[in-house]
Amino acid sequence: MKIGFIGLGIMGKPMSKNLIKAGYQLIVSDFNKEAVHELELLGAELGSTPKEIAEKSDIVITMLPNSPNVKAVALGENGLIEGAHEGLVYIDMSSISPGVSREVYQRLAEKGVDMLDAPVSGGEPKAIDGTMSVMVGGKVEVFEKCKAVLDAMAGSVVLVGEIGAGNITKLANQVIVALNIAAVSEAFVLSQKAGVEPAAVFEAIRGGLAGSTVLEAKGPMMLDRNFDPGFRINLHIKDLTNALETSHEFGVPLPLTSSVLEMMYALKVDGHEFEDHSSLVKFYEKLANVEVSR
Ligand code: NAD
Repeated sequence: MKIGFIGLGIMGKPMSKNLIKAGYQLIVSDFNKEAVHELELLGAELGSTPKEIAEKSDIVITMLPNSPNVKAVALGENGLIEGAHEGLVYIDMSSISPGVSREVYQRLAEKGVDMLDAPVSGGEPKAIDGTMSVMVGGKVEVFEKCKAVLDAMAGSVVLVGEIGAGNITKLANQVIVALNIAAVSEAFVLSQKAGVEPAAVFEAIRGGLAGSTVLEAKGPMMLDRNFDPGFRINLHIKDLTNALETSHEFGVPLPLTSSVLEMMYALKVDGHEFEDHSSLVKFYEKLANVEVSR
């Protein structure tokens, strides 16, 4: 089986390496020629346009930043759609707007191409060790056909519904993560200014109901003032913007999400957009004129 892989960034590069390790033949592309060269050295074929990659592949995977990039690669000039052939399956693993997943799916379906939306959670470390969680939208039979390929990159692969459901699930994930980071930030700033060490608060509460994966992952980063990404503020702004657009499409107000999005915008304006999203604590520190530390 030959797999096309487009988008060899922080996530796509280790994901494609895991496919090669699992024995799949790859044809790859990215604007970043260094990343492409790294994959060539591991035996991948160098692809040119998405059209050509589609023509030569049984499955094409994309791991791109956002909806416009996916639309350009799938439906644009020399896009995947122009290389459509019988049996081709397209798996978009980027985190994008669910409405765009459905739009791309419909356009490709007219050419006989099947599609899954399969965004991931876990970040670079889990992309490297192949233990990401994948949330998949699409038809059961297409999911089953592609399951082994997804398993080669992930620890958990779950079909959550029809096309677009993968990205709805990812948005739900991103809302929960963002609000949790904001809650941890508020709590640490409160305890710091009230004279109780946030590190002691962390130790005391981590085993109770307030404990969470977010507290475990992001709490120590705030205490150590280590804001190296991880997951960047600008990517979380993208996801929360997609969450609000989607929620409005369905008539669902998201009051807390919109507040945290504005906090992230304030951080972006302040020059923190490329930091880890745990730097949300800096928003609260500015309000309270205090700095969280060990
Ligand atoms: P990235 O910016 O590091 O990588 C994206 C890559 O796509 C870049 O190398 C870019 O050159 C390439 N690209 C863009 N347009 C292209 C085109 N037309 N043809 C070929 N290549 C093209 O981003 P990333 O961190 O790898 O994230 C990718 C997706 O995964 C995003 O939707 C992100 O939200 C999601 N995600 C990221 C993380 C994370 O921790 N970084 C975790 C989970 C999900």
